Amino acid sequence: MLNRLCSPGTLGICVSLAILSSCVQGIGENTQIVAIRASRLIDGKGETSLTNPVVLVQGERISAIGSSVQIPTSAKVIDLGDATLLPGLIDAHTHLLSEMDGSNLSLQDAEMLRIVATQSTAERALLGAKLGREDLEAGITTVRDVGNSGVNGDVALRRAIQRGWVLGPRMVTSTRALAAQGGQFGILTPAAQQLIGEEYATVRGAESARQAVRQALYDGAGCIKVIVNGSPAQVTLDEMKAIVDEAHTAGVKVAAHAIGDKATRIAAQAGVDSIEHAYVVPDDVLKMMVEKHIFLVPTDGTLKTFVDMSFGMRQPSEAERGEREKEFAPFVKEEQDRLKRAIQAGVPIAAGSDMYLTMPRMTRGQASLLVYEAYAESGLTPMQIIHAATSNAAELLGRQDRIGTLEVGKFADIIAVPGDPLKDIRALEHAKLVMKGGVVVVNNN
Ligand SMILES: [Zn+2]
Repeated sequence: MLNRLCSPGTLGICVSLAILSSCVQGIGENTQIVAIRASRLIDGKGETSLTNPVVLVQGERISAIGSSVQIPTSAKVIDLGDATLLPGLIDAHTHLLSEMDGSNLSLQDAEMLRIVATQSTAERALLGAKLGREDLEAGITTVRDVGNSGVNGDVALRRAIQRGWVLGPRMVTSTRALAAQGGQFGILTPAAQQLIGEEYATVRGAESARQAVRQALYDGAGCIKVIVNGSPAQVTLDEMKAIVDEAHTAGVKVAAHAIGDKATRIAAQAGVDSIEHAYVVPDDVLKMMVEKHIFLVPTDGTLKTFVDMSFGMRQPSEAERGEREKEFAPFVKEEQDRLKRAIQAGVPIAAGSDMYLTMPRMTRGQASLLVYEAYAESGLTPMQIIHAATSNAAELLGRQDRIGTLEVGKFADIIAVPGDPLKDIRALEHAKLVMKGGVVVVNNN
């Protein structure tokens, strides 16, 4: 088709366009086979790793996997040596269109107001293009972006990535989060309350909740996000049930921000698909989550992460650092305690960073991967963490037929990390190969 349109004078442009389009989309029957070799492979669902694997990639999908796979002579070979192949990582809780100052956590209400009052959705989508690329380059090939993206800015970013305008992860988008009056803004004057609708869809009873879900679906949501508590008012059980019913009727899942006894119980009773954060959650709700197969997305951090973040680029004294550690320690202990109880109860876990704050000297992608260290400190094994960030997250996103494991027929979303992440989970922070849909995005081999 391109050839027929080309006159001799435009041939050069057409050829480069053809190359660009095959690079971006990685599709086509005649695309060259790529063979990836490494020392180990973790497929995202099994309990052990495969040694000396070969993965063949044809177009955007995986065509063969195994230790004895024959490499066709025509294949392009990427030999990674002492490295481990894994499925591309999935972050089930991102805010790619939002970046707040991490050095003053008590200022978050003001930060929200500053962003919404001073950054247009278009500007935030451009920020999202930068942060999305940073996620992808760190090995995060899919995200579920859960709001705080202006009015449908996340959908604009998702489409731009799909069209190959910008490089970024696959995205499941939520559009505006549903919330009771006020969203997560804190207290605003009546005049300033006009801004709430730029960031949240206010729910006013069960029928209004249904309408909000329908509007979100129409706006391009692939997931419904609800802020169950966090504002002075709270989303009720009636409203939650209406939201879940309406979303599930359309085949779309529901993510509930809920912290504390009452809110987590409302979310679980209503039958949401995931509860986000749940830093405080009683055992009977954890039990309900197991029975209903509701995922916990523990958006946790280590003490070191919180302290490092709080000082920004400033180098604190030892005494200052010690003081700050004391401030954060009770919160970290609480989140560790609830993750241990959740694991013990058998609650399914999907990894989610909730990284929306600036982290000194790190890209958004690098900062987002720190959440695995928090899981490790709470006692999750490296394999449990990998499953949380691959097959479990894919299931939560409803994409387990396409992503989340290394299997024949799935998208070739593949990363390679140095050494063995089963010995040290921090290996996941140093991806040296990132491939999305058969296209190599990073190759530091
Ligand atoms: Zn969040």
